[in-house]
Amino acid sequence: MDYEDEKRDCDTYDRGNYDREKQVAIAATTLAAKLCEAVRHHRTPEAIAKPDHSPVTIADFGAQAIICRAITDAFPNDPIVAEEDAALLRQPQLAEQLEAVTAQVRSHIPTATVGLVADWIDRGNGKVGSRYWTLDPIDGTKGFLRGDQYAIALALIEDGDIKVGVLGCPALPVGEETGALFVAVRGQGTVLISLQSGSFQQVSVVASGEMRLTESIEAGHGNLSRQRQVAAAIGLTATPVAMDSQAKYGVVARGEAALYLRLPRSQTPDYRENIWDHAAGAIVVEEAGGKVTDIYGKALDFTAGAKLIHNRGIVASNGDLHDAVLAILSSEVF
Ligand code: AMP
Ligand code: MG
Repeated sequence: MDYEDEKRDCDTYDRGNYDREKQVAIAATTLAAKLCEAVRHHRTPEAIAKPDHSPVTIADFGAQAIICRAITDAFPNDPIVAEEDAALLRQPQLAEQLEAVTAQVRSHIPTATVGLVADWIDRGNGKVGSRYWTLDPIDGTKGFLRGDQYAIALALIEDGDIKVGVLGCPALPVGEETGALFVAVRGQGTVLISLQSGSFQQVSVVASGEMRLTESIEAGHGNLSRQRQVAAAIGLTATPVAMDSQAKYGVVARGEAALYLRLPRSQTPDYRENIWDHAAGAIVVEEAGGKVTDIYGKALDFTAGAKLIHNRGIVASNGDLHDAVLAILSSEVF
């Protein structure tokens, strides 16, 4: 084999391996998790209302700044489609909050300034393309504010397929420790790293085989009563694990729940899920041996924009139960 052949082989290998993407995503998400926990422990996070009335905090913005900067440094041409936007923070009446975000970021990146931080956040205004990242800097902001579960969710998508997912769950127990980082690469399985000690293990949906449902805490984010009926109908009668954020996908990935359901509510028929609320979690479950589709059994379509406009609701399972759940849902009108 001559040099060119060898180089080509090596390039191909690198492209399919996603090792650099994984390392950058792990480092950035770990740092963002530290920022979020620092905000939660050292000051009472206050909600700033977004135009859609959903809450956001200085930790959401700080986490987005850190992760967007890291992705931009390593992969300058990759678009990032993230939940937050600095337009709100650039308003004069929020100057104090922008200063507070910058102070948090500066404790990890000493060169951070107000201008740089706002620019890093705005790197998250990218568009969905053939290769892009999607980021929810704090998924489950309501859980974050309540002192419950939340997640930092980052994923790389190529040609509609999720290739890498890193899901930081700073408040999720890992044995006796606290803080979980689920890392999945397509074809390579899912690893759970303890944010506290750095110890790691491969995870599997069959690990402890807990036959129960996991679902959102927020009644407005799913049809909770119907979710429980469906779970009971397939034999999941144990009390459901109610939890904010994509930590639910982590719980399915490590076998603590067999099913995560997010059924559409009749009150919000036009609601479509955001790509950043599912991409990282979905690959974490799939690579742990589970299955993720919408309520019609369709694969989640990450090619159409920031919303999953071609999908309704979510069914994430250990795989074994999936068809039984879809069979029940197939006779329903949503
Ligand atoms: P969870 O923590 O599972 O309750 O989900 C939090 C996410 O729910 C947020 O990131 C929102 O994007 C999303 N969300 C907001 N409104 C709705 C809705 N009407 N139905 C489903 N999800 C929603
Ligand atoms: Mg979210």
